[in-house]
Amino acid sequence: MSEKQFFGHIIDNVEVESIDRQRFDVWNPWTQEIWAQAAEGGEADADAAITSARKAFDEGPWPRMGRVERAKAIHKLADLMEERSNELATLDSTNMAKPFAQAKHDVGRSIWNFRFFADHQRDSCGEVYPMDSGHHSYSEFGPAGVVAAISPWNFPLMMASWKIAPAIAWGNTCIIKPSEDTPASVTMLGRLAVEAGFPPGVLNVLNGHGMPAGSAITGDDRVDRVTFTGSSTTGKHVMASAATHLAPVSLELGGKGANIVFEDADLDNAVYWAVEAIFRNAGQICLAGSRLFVQKGIYEEFMARFTAAAEALTIGDPFDPATKFSALASKRHFDKVASYVESAQSLGGNFHTGGVATDGSWVVRPTIIDGLALDAAPYCEEIFGPVCVVNSFETEEEAVHLANDTRYGLNAMLFTENLSRAHRVASNLKAGTVWVNCFFIRDLRTPFGGVGDSGVGREGGNFSREFFTEPKAVVMQIAR
Ligand code: NAD
Repeated sequence: MSEKQFFGHIIDNVEVESIDRQRFDVWNPWTQEIWAQAAEGGEADADAAITSARKAFDEGPWPRMGRVERAKAIHKLADLMEERSNELATLDSTNMAKPFAQAKHDVGRSIWNFRFFADHQRDSCGEVYPMDSGHHSYSEFGPAGVVAAISPWNFPLMMASWKIAPAIAWGNTCIIKPSEDTPASVTMLGRLAVEAGFPPGVLNVLNGHGMPAGSAITGDDRVDRVTFTGSSTTGKHVMASAATHLAPVSLELGGKGANIVFEDADLDNAVYWAVEAIFRNAGQICLAGSRLFVQKGIYEEFMARFTAAAEALTIGDPFDPATKFSALASKRHFDKVASYVESAQSLGGNFHTGGVATDGSWVVRPTIIDGLALDAAPYCEEIFGPVCVVNSFETEEEAVHLANDTRYGLNAMLFTENLSRAHRVASNLKAGTVWVNCFFIRDLRTPFGGVGDSGVGREGGNFSREFFTEPKAVVMQIAR
C-alpha cells in the first residue's frame, strides 16, 4: 500500500507537525479507507499560529503594502490554484466523495473568490461628503488585524476561500481552521500561498478538531475578527467564545431552504433546479432546497417528473465521469442522515423514492418524501443530506407562510413566470438570498448571510469590507 499523505499545519510559512506530534486519520468516504493523516492541533499549535499572524500584522509588510501590490500577490495565488486545479479538486473528491466535476466547479469558484476580493479592495473607494459647514468628510478602510476563520467540510476549499480571500485582501492576516473531516485542500492552499511568495504569517493553516483547535483561536484576545461557517449549534459556541474578548463575529450557519413552485412555472426549469437544489453535493449544502412546496394544480405532474429526475441520477465513484451523486462525507454524517430517514419512515412519511443504501456504502439515495406533519423533525430540522420533504399549497399567501415558518432563513427559491408575483413573493420571504427561477448563482458583490438561526451578519462585496476592516471617518475643515 502506498504511504499515506500527511497534511501538517502551515505556520509562519512552514509546514509542521503538531508540537506534541499528535495526528488524526483522514477518511475517503467512498472507499471507506484512511488515505491520509493530518496534524491534530492543540492549544500550543493555536498559540504558535496566532503569534505568527499577530507578528505578520503588527510588523510585517502585508498590511502596509500598496493595494495594487497586494492584489498582484493574491492573483498570483489564484494563478497557482488554476495551474493545480485538478489536484485541488482531487483532494476534495477523495476527502468527501464529491463528484469530481462538482469539485472542479468548486475550485473555479474558489479561484474567483480570490480574484474578486483582490480587485475589490484595489478598486473600491470610500464615500466622500462635502459638508455645508465648510468641511468634507471621507471614510477610510484600514485592516482590522488578525482574523480567525473556521470552515466546514461540505465545500472544503470554497468555504475556506470565501473567508480567507476578503480577510487577506483587506490587509489582515489569517488563521484558517478547516474541518477535521476535510483538511486536505485547504492545507494545499496554504502550501500554494507559500509558493506564491506570501510573507510568513499572512495565511496560517491550523488543522485539528473544533475543540481544542477551533475554540483556541476564537477565544484568544489577540484575534480581532472571527468568521465562522458551520452549524447553528457550533455558531452559538463560537459567538460566546469571541464575546469574551469582544471580537466581532460573522456567522454563516445552517438552513432549511424553501423551494416554491407555482402552477405557472416553467416546469422543465423548475424540475431541473429542484434536483440541483437538493441532490447536488448529495444535499450537503447549507442552501439546499430541502423543503419543497408545489401548488396543487401541478402537484401530481411535478412529483412524477421530480421523482423520475432524481432516480435518473447516476450514483457511484466520485471519480467516474458519469457519477452525479456519491456517498455522504463521513460515517458520522451518514449515520445522522440515515437516522432522519428512519425517523421519517416511522412518522408515516410517504416515500416517492430514495432511502438508505443497503450495500454497506455510506450512500443515502436521493430521497423524496411527502405526508409528514409540519412539526415532524425531518420536516423542521436541517438534515444536511439528500432528503427533500414536500408539501402542496393552494394560494400565494399560504406558500409564503409555509416557507417562512422556520427558525432558519438562509435562502429560498421560487419558480413562476409571473413577474409581479416573483417580486412580491421574493420580497415577502424571510431569507438572506432568494433565487427566482434558478439556484446557487452568486454575484460576489451582493450580501450573503442568513436570518434567524441561519446566521449573524453578511459577507460579500462592501459587506465583507465592512466586516474585515475598521472603517474610519476623517473630517477635514476647508480653510476659506
Ligand atoms: P460544524 O459546526 O460541526 O463544524 C464547522 C467547523 O467548526 C469545523 O471546522 C469544526 O471543527 C469547527 N468547530 C466545532 N466546534 C467548534 C468550537 N467549539 N469552536 C470553534 N470551532 C469549532 O459544522 P459542519 O458539520 O462542519 O458543517 C455543516 C454545517 O455547516 C451545516 O449546518 C451547514 O448548513 C453549515 N453551512 C453553512 C453555510 C453558510 O454559508 N451558511 C455554508 C456551508 C455549511
